[in-house]
Amino acid sequence: MTLKSLFLDLNSYFASVEQQVRPQLRGRPVAVTPVMADSGCCIAASYEAKKFGVRTGTRVREAKQLCPGIELVKARPRLYVLMHKRVLEAIERCIPVQAVHSIDEVSCRLDPRERTPEEATALALRIKASIAEHAGVWMRCSIGIAPNRFLSKVATDMQKPDGLVVIEKKDLPQKLYSLKPIEIAGIGPKMSERLLKAGITTVEQLCAKSEKEMEKLWGGVVGRRWYLWLRGEELPEGPTHKRSLGHQHVLGPEHRTDEGAKAMAQRLLHKAAERLRHDGYAAQRLTLSIRMREEGMAPTGWRRASWSVSASLGPACSDTATMLEALEELWKQRPAGVPTLVDVTLTELVNTQSQTLPLFQGENRRTRLSKAMDLVNEKYGANTLYTSSIHEARASGSGGIAFNYVPDLELPDTVRERGEGAMSDEELVKLIERMAKVR
Ligand SMILES: [Mg+2]
Repeated sequence: MTLKSLFLDLNSYFASVEQQVRPQLRGRPVAVTPVMADSGCCIAASYEAKKFGVRTGTRVREAKQLCPGIELVKARPRLYVLMHKRVLEAIERCIPVQAVHSIDEVSCRLDPRERTPEEATALALRIKASIAEHAGVWMRCSIGIAPNRFLSKVATDMQKPDGLVVIEKKDLPQKLYSLKPIEIAGIGPKMSERLLKAGITTVEQLCAKSEKEMEKLWGGVVGRRWYLWLRGEELPEGPTHKRSLGHQHVLGPEHRTDEGAKAMAQRLLHKAAERLRHDGYAAQRLTLSIRMREEGMAPTGWRRASWSVSASLGPACSDTATMLEALEELWKQRPAGVPTLVDVTLTELVNTQSQTLPLFQGENRRTRLSKAMDLVNEKYGANTLYTSSIHEARASGSGGIAFNYVPDLELPDTVRERGEGAMSDEELVKLIERMAKVR
């Protein structure tokens, strides 16, 4: 009864979605790229392409050399978000999704009845069948089952594609020895190098370290967490408590207009909301502050004035659309004057990442959509997807905000690029539905 977590990782997600909705691509080497040019980057490769050495990050030019017959496909982020939702629904027919970690990764907490290897394996097979039925046979995934979430994720990396790996407490730590430290999720190149310097080249050596030694390796309590994770212990997660989250921006002279300031406020709110969700919080209140120059008493003509107002967002708001509506109302109350600085802050934060609270419990469609957008933005890099209101801020060219997570993989603005021939969300959903039936 030691199994508690189930982790699911969709295999070669973007490439698989394309193969799913375009059966002629199935079984063929496919690479997805945001830019159809030799200098562009592959953001996903099908397993057939991976065999030729094409990976995420491979340049298009190089991909063509490695695999002359490769099918290059232009990325369709909205399709991937819609498929993501479809897959989530398929999973939730079998088990509630506890957390969405990226566009192709989710975790679930096993019910006490599902904690034996037999029951958990049966559940995993039901999930795979449900995804095949509702999203399509080409949407394969690797499922890992383990005593904690950390190990369940590690288990998904042990068998690909279409994997199913169970790590029981009694298998620990030997079952992990087949991996290299760098193959363990959470050990990046930097940490790997640090381990190397400490003479650790295998997971076996890592597992032999004491709690104290692990703390030293990671430089603090994180090391202790790793020590316990590797042993199958479950630890309470979630970031430390936070009271508010906000951003402010000094407006350049060209943006010191009502429209410029408003577009910036919206943009800042998008950024804060994304961050809020990323950190696992919801907000109860939104505060808008504007610093202005206004014609005043001083003989020099101008004096500075600050103005601030706030509104309730309800018990636990994490969706951008609701926040933007609240901002719209607040904006109407602003006094006249030339804006020089805007500040948008979310306050009265509540933690939504408690272990017992399913992530999507009681959430509306808007929150789900906001989260899905974050996922694509995170995976692809900045500004892949955003709503029309933020569009103005971008168009106005007010720079200075770093949205980038993966700058190298940046996508062009697909919303703006949506020209003739592009499909609407409704059409994409219909396509997904239709193709789910094609075996
Ligand atoms: Mg994946």
